[in-house]
Amino acid sequence: MKTDTPGEELLFLPLGGSNEIGMNVNLYGCRGKWIMVDLGMTFADPSLPGIDLVFPDLSFIEDRAEDLLGIVLTHGHEDHIGAIPYLAAELGVPLYATPFTAGLIRHKLQEEGLDREVKLKIIPMQGKLTLGAFDIQYAHLAHSIPEGNALIIDTPFGRIFHTGDWKLDKAPILGKPSTPEFLTKLGDEGVLAYVGDSTNVFEEEESGSETGVLESLLEICKNRKGRIVITTFASNLARVHTMGKVAEATGRSLVLVGRSMDRIARVGRDTGYLKDFPPVLGADDVDTLAPDKTLIVCTGCQGEPQAALSRIATGSHSSIKLSKNDLVVFSSKKIPGNDLGIAHIQNQLALKGIEVITEKDHHVHVSGHPGKPELRAMLGWLRPQIAVPVHGEPRHLAAHAAFARSVGVKQTVVPTNGSVIRLAPGDAKIINHVPVGRLVLDGDVIIPADGRTVVERRRLQENGYISATLVVNKRGKLVATPAIALQGVPVEEDRERFVNDIIDVAERAYDKFEGNDEAKQLEHVRVAIRRFAKDNTGKKPVVDVQFARVN
Ligand SMILES: [Zn+2]
Ligand SMILES: [Zn+2]
Repeated sequence: MKTDTPGEELLFLPLGGSNEIGMNVNLYGCRGKWIMVDLGMTFADPSLPGIDLVFPDLSFIEDRAEDLLGIVLTHGHEDHIGAIPYLAAELGVPLYATPFTAGLIRHKLQEEGLDREVKLKIIPMQGKLTLGAFDIQYAHLAHSIPEGNALIIDTPFGRIFHTGDWKLDKAPILGKPSTPEFLTKLGDEGVLAYVGDSTNVFEEEESGSETGVLESLLEICKNRKGRIVITTFASNLARVHTMGKVAEATGRSLVLVGRSMDRIARVGRDTGYLKDFPPVLGADDVDTLAPDKTLIVCTGCQGEPQAALSRIATGSHSSIKLSKNDLVVFSSKKIPGNDLGIAHIQNQLALKGIEVITEKDHHVHVSGHPGKPELRAMLGWLRPQIAVPVHGEPRHLAAHAAFARSVGVKQTVVPTNGSVIRLAPGDAKIINHVPVGRLVLDGDVIIPADGRTVVERRRLQENGYISATLVVNKRGKLVATPAIALQGVPVEEDRERFVNDIIDVAERAYDKFEGNDEAKQLEHVRVAIRRFAKDNTGKKPVVDVQFARVN
């Protein structure tokens, strides 16, 4: 038996999502076997130049793949399913998801040509499945994508309520969330551990209802002249559905723009979520519509430069042009880190005299995560013995644990990625730490986030690059002018002079070197070039020196 194989006990082990908001991967272990809940990714920040996607390092469970029973997905957001096309095939176990989530996953697997290799099993809403010692039931909770689900996981050691991402919404646009009565009954039956979403633990207010957004958007859009553009997260199908209602009520044609918007709408239709939705037009139809008969819904609310809104705002969209009197509504919140991109778009719009409305001005967005009043309600219904906060940065997790204690939960355990928590038997506690890490998708290649490639890339990005090739004969004499190449060194119009100086520096350093050790001689030249560059530019470029030999 490998160490860390679960014995007569119930373990919880997050491999991702418990140091950050993103890349959620959680393991539960019991009697020799593991199940995985979610397999998400996160988006790279500027510290990872040239890289978009970040995945959790699954080495721990890959080494024990024969003990893994399946991957259960709570819902279809990228931070819960995004790593599936890259990491699931190697694990070799089936995926389980409710219909809408499964539709999104199937699309991803098809794009990667993995739809035959990776088994995907569809579980109906409120459906059940059994994996080894785990009896699992899906419990629908409202969220900002259809089919947000908690998992009720019954084990020989007690019941876990894994919330997934959730909120309370008394009047959701799509779906019928679990009722307080149902959740209270779970609590009456006894909940050992609540493993819950910490995203909005700092919010004093409840998240609010989708229906409130509909009412507010109707108010904003009625009697409006000019085109209306509303941007939101494509995955928020309830919000897109709301836009359909607004279009109908204001006599406008609905135009959906953006690849992810098309994909979500297709999966939504296929799974029956867009039954009373108006006909949808594409970007090419905008030309034929009167401005005051047009409602454009598009991607790009986070300022993504490739998304539709950015191209519309900068005037580079092939078919949608905006002018004065038009309106752009951001029906979204700013995700931290995207402020600059969003400001850039809003500035472009302001320069054209286009009015912009955001959640700061009007009630045009509600969050998909629970604020304190909702956390209090849920903990009150479930009355768990143990609370384990997940889905947050360390500060969110600590605050969520403190909040749970303040409403009467006796035991709380704050994980970090890699913490092995024994939930039962005995008091819940961290009993071990296993290695975890981050992987990045660089081009088509998956590599460690702290590996050589990323370190080198960062150095090149920050300092630039100089290469010098020394042409030498058999006797070690320089027989031609060294060939110098520069990338990203700040010399501009002095480039030619700088290159000539480097040639001098290289020749002098080469000739002055005493001894027969070639490696040391190259290093001597390299250091001389680097010092020259530093003295003349203040930068320390990456310098490569090599020999080319001739007879
Ligand atoms: Zn989510
Ligand atoms: Zn999430």
